[in-house]
Amino acid sequence: MKPRTPQYAISVACILALAWLPCVAADRQIAITIDDLPAGAANWMSATEINQMTAKLLTPLREQKTPAVGFVNEKKLYKTGEVDERIKALSMWLDSGFELGNHTFSHASLNRVGLKAWEEDVIQGETVTRMLLTQHNLKLRYFRHPYLDTGRDLQTRREAEAFLVDRGYRIAPVTLDAWDWMYAGVYDDARRRGDSALQQQLVSSYLSYTNDVLAYSEKQSKDLIARQLARSRPHWRIAGGDSQTWIPIHHPRRSLKRSGLRLAR
Ligand SMILES: [Zn+2]
Repeated sequence: MKPRTPQYAISVACILALAWLPCVAADRQIAITIDDLPAGAANWMSATEINQMTAKLLTPLREQKTPAVGFVNEKKLYKTGEVDERIKALSMWLDSGFELGNHTFSHASLNRVGLKAWEEDVIQGETVTRMLLTQHNLKLRYFRHPYLDTGRDLQTRREAEAFLVDRGYRIAPVTLDAWDWMYAGVYDDARRRGDSALQQQLVSSYLSYTNDVLAYSEKQSKDLIARQLARSRPHWRIAGGDSQTWIPIHHPRRSLKRSGLRLAR
């Protein structure tokens, strides 16, 4: 799970959603989503830095024709004098052929703020995103829970799900996590200090760990819950980065390709 301290609420977190269909090996799929747009560290970044990071992130995705959905926290758009420029970062996603989803206005945890306040945060988080999607003839249809918190009890969870479904959302879950966000804060610190050796070490470690998580999770899915997975798609969180701290997405993508997983939305 993502930590709650602001310094670790790093910007983008790629979410890979895996779906293993044990009876049809060729149909194993994986989807990429990225949380906390326009950037997890947006409060500490300028609009220029956010837009540069966004371009850097989207270019390989676009060039490699990788479908992706970005999940937005609209509160991060409201910085005096920069609102239009920050909205531009979201437009870049849509202009590049990707899709946007809602991640609540303020990244509110359903486990902390209570259902009513959380619902208001969901609604408040729709304003700009829906407007941009409409401009691109798209509908707002995906939602991801901040911190992946789905409620402290089953009743809250079910009521929240009903609320989301009523508003036309499909919930994007994550069931497998490579703890990618833990790398980004350390990486960014190394970058600021000019420690390129540590940066490279972190990238290698991250990729190695990602491969391990992928292999472990796939084995577990086959060994333990193959039948359930055939009915309900498992999802895996992987990769991370922030402002300049962006671990290139094409690296894990290669690993996934080697694993025979098909990228899908
Ligand atoms: Zn998030």
